[in-house]
Amino acid sequence: MLLYEGKAKKVFKTEDPEVLRIEYKDEVTAGNGVRHDFMEGKGRLNNLISSDIFKYMEKNGVKSHFIERVSDTEQTVKPVAIIPLEVTVRNRAAGSIVKRLGFEKGAEFTPPLVEFYYKKDALNDPILTDGHVLELGLATGAEIGELKAAALKVNDILIRMMDMMGMELADFKIEFGRDNAGDILLADEISPDTCRIWGAGTNENFDKDVYRENTGSLIDTYTKFYEKMEAVK
Ligand code: C5P
Repeated sequence: MLLYEGKAKKVFKTEDPEVLRIEYKDEVTAGNGVRHDFMEGKGRLNNLISSDIFKYMEKNGVKSHFIERVSDTEQTVKPVAIIPLEVTVRNRAAGSIVKRLGFEKGAEFTPPLVEFYYKKDALNDPILTDGHVLELGLATGAEIGELKAAALKVNDILIRMMDMMGMELADFKIEFGRDNAGDILLADEISPDTCRIWGAGTNENFDKDVYRENTGSLIDTYTKFYEKMEAVK
C-alpha cells in the first residue's frame, strides 16, 4: 500500500509493520520542483548508491533507518517519523551560501558549517537558527546537539570515503527520523542528488549540479560516481 509519494521516491507499507519499502523514481527535480524531468535509470542509480552509502555508514557506527536493498530500484527501511529539518554540512562554499552570503565558490569552512533548513515547501525551505528549531518544537536542545554531532560524524565518514574515490566532498544534506522508541536515526538518502562532490583537484562535478547548471549528463555522471564506489567496497 502506498503510504507517501515524494519528488523522487514512493514509500510503501509491507506486511511487517516494522518494515517499509521505498521505491526510487526515474525523476529529477530542482529549485523546489520548479524544474522537473524524467530520466530513465536515475532511480536505479540513486538506490544503488544510497544503499551502499548507508551500508558504509552502518559499518562505521552510524545508526540509520536502512535495512537492505531488495531490487535495483527498491530498498527496505525501518519506519521513522521524519524530523522536518534538512541538516546541511558545508566543507566548502557552493550553491545557496555563495548566492546568499557572497562567499567565494570553493572557500573552505574549518570547522565545517552545520545548518538547519525547515523542510516546508510552502515556505521554500528557509534556514533556521537553533532558537527557531526550539520554538517550532522540531527538536529539543539535547536533540539539536545530537543532530549536529551525527551530521559531523557523517561528514567525517563521507570525506574519507570520497577521498578513497579520488573525490572531495563540498557539502551535503541529510535528514533524520525518530523510531518507535524515540531514538534518532539517519534517514532519507545520501547520493549525488544530496551531496556536492568534486573531483580531487579538478573542477569536475559528480553531483546534481550537472543538472542544475546544465553542464552534463546526470545519468553518465552518477554512473561514473557509482563505478568509483568500487574503491570503497
Ligand atoms: O542549495 P544548497 O547550496 O543550500 O545545498 C547544500 C547541499 O544540500 C547540496 O549538496 C544540495 O545538493 C543539498 N540539498 C538537498 N536537498 C535540498 C537542498 C539542498 O539535497 N532540498
